[in-house]
Amino acid sequence: MIERIRVVGAGGRVGSAVSARLAERGVLLDRDKPELVLLCVPDRAIAEVARGTAPGPWMAHVSGATPLATLEPHQRRFAMHPLQSFSKARGPEQLDGAWAAVTSETDEARAHGFWLAETLGLRPFILSDESRASYHAGAAVASNYLVTLRRAAGSLLAAAGAPPEALDPLMRGVIDNGFELTGPIARGDWETVERHLTTIREHLPELEELYLVLAEATATIAGRKLPSDTVSQGGPGGSPKVCRTIHELRVELDHRRSGSVGLLPTMGSLHEGHLSLLRTARAECDTVVMSLFVNPAQFADRADLGRYPRNHERDVALAGEIGVDLVFAPSVDEMYPEGFQTWVDVTEIGSSLEGEFRPGHFRGVATIVLKLLSIARPTRVYFGQKDAQQVEVIRRMIRDLALDVELRVLPTVRDADGLALSSRNALLSAEERQRALVLSRALATRDPAAARNLLAESNGLTVDYVEIADFDPPVLAGAVRVGDTRLIDNVPLEGDTP
Ligand code: AMP
Repeated sequence: MIERIRVVGAGGRVGSAVSARLAERGVLLDRDKPELVLLCVPDRAIAEVARGTAPGPWMAHVSGATPLATLEPHQRRFAMHPLQSFSKARGPEQLDGAWAAVTSETDEARAHGFWLAETLGLRPFILSDESRASYHAGAAVASNYLVTLRRAAGSLLAAAGAPPEALDPLMRGVIDNGFELTGPIARGDWETVERHLTTIREHLPELEELYLVLAEATATIAGRKLPSDTVSQGGPGGSPKVCRTIHELRVELDHRRSGSVGLLPTMGSLHEGHLSLLRTARAECDTVVMSLFVNPAQFADRADLGRYPRNHERDVALAGEIGVDLVFAPSVDEMYPEGFQTWVDVTEIGSSLEGEFRPGHFRGVATIVLKLLSIARPTRVYFGQKDAQQVEVIRRMIRDLALDVELRVLPTVRDADGLALSSRNALLSAEERQRALVLSRALATRDPAAARNLLAESNGLTVDYVEIADFDPPVLAGAVRVGDTRLIDNVPLEGDTP
């Protein structure tokens, strides 16, 4: 067909193998009167060399990523990409048995492309110009990332004192065996996978993310799913991973995305109210994230913010007992970086009751919750009925902004004597706590007038409000101050939720 070819870049990795094979097959490597100019130059040089070549002969390149148009102004053109990794240390035998993608616009060009591939000892197939990126991505994953995998696997062997090169026959064996999947994930042996992760976290933590991504992809091939406590660190009784930055949390969540994610926003100082929410989230979601952030924007009063109880280590330990996977404990600067000026205001619901006594409170709540939802992108977000107006604000925000999250609201947890659990209860003296009991008793009447009377009769309490609020469900809500501590509580007026 074609008898004289000029190979540009004959000294390169592909060019030298191609030239040698063409010479073996009796094709003339003619610099002066070629019928085909074959560009074996780096991708970025193709356009320039093509433009600098006088029109006349056929023009072709051997790149997998480069579109045909790069060969402008030549119109008699095609591409023939040998799907092989070439080394200058080896000769034309590298071509034997490899495939070649031929891209062409005419039958004649395709015939030339197929002829060239077959002459070189390659197995041609047709590739359209538009599908090039996908084809080339596949080629890069198979060849380049194999190097990355070998490097990662080699460092694990080296950490064990074993020779990394011992992996090479193993890797070839997998190919020779037709890529049959064996090993712990194929067997569903999660204990072994767990042991892998433990040693990786200890000795080569930079490989954890890669291992997990590959484990999940491999589990999918095996028709299995990694248990969520394998993906997380240890499961119930273990310690959750504490993320301090938005980036860290996003990275951790990225490889847990295949399952559901539950988020519980808290300000810490956990009590049984928080723990009941966490247990439900643990039962309902593959991954549970708890945020731990005392949000300054929801405290109008600096002194109140300063007094708010903080107990970080205990909180992380309690979360670990329940099997929380990730604790997000950012700094104030992380959540409110310099220049922060975007606020969410749920105008009506956020301005009555609590909003009246704590101006700006719900603006702070809605803003931080929206930010947490945007960072964690949970399937479900958990709130306590204890803060009924907060639930109403969040429900409205989710609806108004069409947020893609399921709102889960769980009943108020109380002490045996009826006092609603609250982190602020820790600030009460024994005597103040005794005085505070009247709030839950008053609200339990479910009658605003009766409740106000009961509260008026008791000493040492300042009542901010006792009102029926038209929430979903409607509640009788109240707020009182006992000494320096402000307490809120409510009872739903429908259904039998406490
Ligand atoms: P906080 O840490 O006070 O912001 O509370 C975090 C979450 O726990 C909020 O959704 C609260 O409504 C919820 N919560 C607080 N106290 C209780 C309680 N006694 N019972 C149920 N949920 C609660």
